[in-house]
Formats: sequence, structure tokens, C-alpha cells
Amino acid sequence: MKNIVIFGAPGSGKGTQSDMLVQKYGFQHISTGDVLRQAIKEGSELGLTAQSYISDGKLIPDSLMIDILASTYDALDTSVGVIFDGFPRTIAQAEALEKMLAERGSRVDAMLELDVPTEMLMERLIQRGKTSGRADDNEETIKKRLDVYGQQTAPLIEWYTSAGLRHKVQGYGSLEEINASLSAIIDSL
Ligand code: ATP
Ligand code: MG
Repeated sequence: MKNIVIFGAPGSGKGTQSDMLVQKYGFQHISTGDVLRQAIKEGSELGLTAQSYISDGKLIPDSLMIDILASTYDALDTSVGVIFDGFPRTIAQAEALEKMLAERGSRVDAMLELDVPTEMLMERLIQRGKTSGRADDNEETIKKRLDVYGQQTAPLIEWYTSAGLRHKVQGYGSLEEINASLSAIIDSL
């Protein structure tokens, strides 16, 4: 069983590549962004809380996200493996993930970083905003999200490097090329 963190800035292609890896390996996929958007759609209490943070380009508070992650994880059959997409986004979340997995006799096997230049991220997200209907895919919010990424999430690169788990992959080119780079790492684990 493998636990893989797919990591990268907003628009780096975490969701797209996760779907391809799910097809190929049969992993379970936890996308915290998808969990939150579903909650918003259902109008649940979580959705109501999440809505204002997301449309403001901010992160949902760690304590709430950590609870959501654990309950999402425990509802899955994790025997083949899990891809964590959009979590962790802060050092506190990375520590919580480590603790949660340790309590279940498991651990993170690799952090796969999709590296994409900022100008390309902006371009992709503005393009995606034309069809995604996402409240956060507009220029002003995209800028805030990229700032938040730089301040709160990018420090995880160092954190996972120190843990010996970080693998950096070029996140542009064809989807197949990117997927081949990710697969090569997974196969070597
Ligand atoms: P990508 O385009 O690579 O899939 P993204 O940043 O556009 O990434 P999501 O991962 O779908 O999008 O996240 C959307 C929003 O949901 C975030 O901007 C944030 O407000 C909230 N969110 C998602 N995951 C977390 C988390 N782990 N902690 C706090 N907030 C989160
Ligand atoms: Mg996503």
C-alpha cells in the first residue's frame, strides 16, 4: 500500500494527474478541494463555512481540515493506496497527516511535486475560470491563492525534502509525459 502526496501550486495539475494515476494504479483519491466544493453544493454546515474562505482565496482553518481529512480517509478502502491531492497545504497539516497515518500503522511514501512557472499557472487558471464555474478562478482571487501558496504551502517543499520524501517533476509538457515522470517515481518506491 502506498500513500502519495501530490503537491503543487494552484493550477499545477494535481487533479488531472491524480485521475490518471487512479486509472493506472487503482489508488483511492482524496481531493480536499473536491470535498469542500461538494459540501458547498450540498449546502451543509461545512459548505457554508468553506464558501467564504474559498471565494476569498484563503485556506480553511487547519483544525477543520484535519478532521475532514481523517473522516474522509477512514471512509475509504486504503488497501491499494491513496493519493492526497490538496492536503497538506500547511506544515501543521503535514504533521497531522504524519500522525494520522502513524496511528493507523502507515506513513507517507512520497511527495510528488509538480513544478510549473508562475506565469503559466496564472494563464491556466484564468483559462480554466472561463468554463469551471469556480468562484475562485478569477484573476483577483487567483493572485491571492498564489500568494497564500507561496507563504503557507511552499514551505512544505523544504519540510518534505528534509524528510527525504520529495520528488520534483516538470509539470508542463504533454499530460502523458508528466504522467510518465510520476509513474517512474511511483514504480521505484
Ligand atoms: P489544482 O488546480 O492544482 O487542483 P487548486 O488550488 O486550484 O489546485 P483545490 O485544491 O481544489 O484547488 O482547492 C480549492 C480551495 O479549497 C483552496 O484555495 C482552499 O481555499 C480550499 N482548500 C482545499 N484544500 C485545503 C486544505 N488542505 N487546507 C485549507 N484549505 C483547503
Ligand atoms: Mg484540484
